[in-house]
Amino acid sequence: MLIIMHADASEDQINSVVKRVEECGMKAHLSQGEERCIIGAIGDGRPVQKDQFLYMPGVDRIVPITRPYKLASREFQKEDTVFNLDGVTIGTSSIVLIAGPCSVESRSQMIETAYAVKEAGAHALRGGAYKPRTSPYSFQGLGEEGLEILAEARELTGMPIVTEVMSIEQVKLVVKYADVLQIGARNMQNYALLHAAGESQHPVLIKRGMMATIEELLMAAEYVLSHDNRRVILCERGIRTFETATRNTTDINAIPVLKNATHLPVILDPSHSTGNWEYVTAVARAAIAAGADGLIIEVHPNPAEAKSDGGQSLKPERFAELVSQIRAIAEAVGRDLFAKKAVFVK
Ligand code: PEP
Ligand code: MN
Repeated sequence: MLIIMHADASEDQINSVVKRVEECGMKAHLSQGEERCIIGAIGDGRPVQKDQFLYMPGVDRIVPITRPYKLASREFQKEDTVFNLDGVTIGTSSIVLIAGPCSVESRSQMIETAYAVKEAGAHALRGGAYKPRTSPYSFQGLGEEGLEILAEARELTGMPIVTEVMSIEQVKLVVKYADVLQIGARNMQNYALLHAAGESQHPVLIKRGMMATIEELLMAAEYVLSHDNRRVILCERGIRTFETATRNTTDINAIPVLKNATHLPVILDPSHSTGNWEYVTAVARAAIAAGADGLIIEVHPNPAEAKSDGGQSLKPERFAELVSQIRAIAEAVGRDLFAKKAVFVK
C-alpha cells in the first residue's frame, strides 16, 4: 500500500510512519515527490491493519497499489526517474545513445570503436566482456581482460561503460569496472542475479527476456528496486514471435506501455530486435518517435570480421548517419539529444 503524507508532514511524522511500517514486518520505501512524500509499505502479502496508519499524524490517506510491481509503478512515483551516469543524465527529455561492439574482442577494436562512436555522438559505451552465446564453442568474451580494455576506453573517451554481468560471482568484479551492469535477455528472470545486482547499488540495465511479457520485465526491475537500488533502465530488445524474417520482433508497443506503467527510463536495442544492420536505423527512428529515452546500438569498425553479431552491427559511418536522423526525430517529438550540461542529479 501507499501511505500518502500531507504536503506539510514533518520529518518526525514521516519517521514515525516508517517505524510503524517496519514494526508490522513490512519494508518502507520513500518516494519524495515534488509536493509530498509517499511511503510505499511493502510486505509479503499477509494482511495488515491499514487503519492504524490512517490516524497517524501527518498521514493524508492510504491507497492500495493495484499492480503486482510496486516500486516500479507510476502509482508509487509519478515523476520520471532521472539519474546520472558519470556525467550523462538519463530519464529526462534528452535522449541518451549507448553504442559499441557486441563483444570486446581486442584493445585496438574497442578503442577504435569507442573513439568512432564518440565522434558520431554517442554518450555511453557498450561492449560485452562476458558473452551469453547459444553455442559453447562460440567466442565467450575476454572476461576480465575485456573489462580492463573497457576501463581504458572509458579513461580515454570519458564515456561511461555498460557491460553485461552473467552470474552472481561476476557482480563484484564488473561493478569495479563498469558504470552500468547489463542483465541480458537470457538472465532477465535469474532472480538470484537480480537480487545481487540490486544489492550492488550500482546502476542496472535490464533487457527484456525474449519470451517475457512487459509485466514480467517490470517484475524483474522490482527485484532490483526492492533493494532500494533505484537506478534501473529498462530495455526492449525484441521478442520471439512466429516471424522469421528478422532475428526477433521489435515490440514498439512496449515503449508507450512501459512509459505509462513505470517511471523508469526505457530504451530500445534495435540491433538485437532486428538482427540485421539494414533495419537498425529505421527501427531506431521508430523507437524515438514512440517515446524511448535512449537507444543501445551495436557498432563495429569491421562487421564482417566481428566475433559476435557482425550481421547486425553498424559501421561507424552508418552510426553517424543514424545519430543525425535520431536528432531530427527527437526534435519532431519535442525532445533533443543529450548534451553535457551542468545538471545536478543524484
Ligand atoms: C548483447 O547486448 O550483446 C546481448 C547479448 O543482448 P541480449 O541479452 O538482449 O540478447
Ligand atoms: Mn550482441
